[in-house]
Amino acid sequence: MTENQDHRHEIDSQSPEARTEALEDLLVEKGLIDRARIDSLIERFEHDLGPMIGARLIAKAWLEPDFRDRLVADTDQVLQEENVSGAEIEHVEVKANEPGVHNVVVCTLCSCYPWALLGLPPAWYKSPEYRARVVREPRKVLEEMGLPLEADTEIRVWDSSSETRFLVLPERPVGSEHMEIEELTELVTRDSMIGVAKAQAP
Ligand code: FE
Repeated sequence: MTENQDHRHEIDSQSPEARTEALEDLLVEKGLIDRARIDSLIERFEHDLGPMIGARLIAKAWLEPDFRDRLVADTDQVLQEENVSGAEIEHVEVKANEPGVHNVVVCTLCSCYPWALLGLPPAWYKSPEYRARVVREPRKVLEEMGLPLEADTEIRVWDSSSETRFLVLPERPVGSEHMEIEELTELVTRDSMIGVAKAQAP
């Protein structure tokens, strides 16, 4: 399979809903999947998953330097140890922000995204505009999204694929030094883990 075929999610004027339903019917008919399993998967994405899974990892990384180092060095291993599994995180790399370096994630070809860590991707992440522009003019796009960065901050743009998904490790906000993991987790927004925002200030 070529990379292009691998990424082809949006190729038709027919609505995604209609296409998804047709595909689901076909897979059920062929006995490849059963409908109850699909329903339970959707249920899981809507209710149980979401950015809290990723946020908790980030908060733990803020609290434990050793965990942080391992999370950055070998994300897959840490996810396994933490019993985090699920869709679209077969191989994940964590990119840590630091003073003078800011990371941001895109999928230029479609919408590859670490679902099991962040839940469903936001609509703007899938938009052709974001996908094209954040590579070309990341500083401008981030500023438009409410994240003005210093002129001397280096911006690293990571292009996701079906092989590699990325998660940004935002900097721990000033004023959060006294906080425990539960409170810290609430400061880690989905957008901060995509890299279009900072973690919330306490
Ligand atoms: Fe993609």
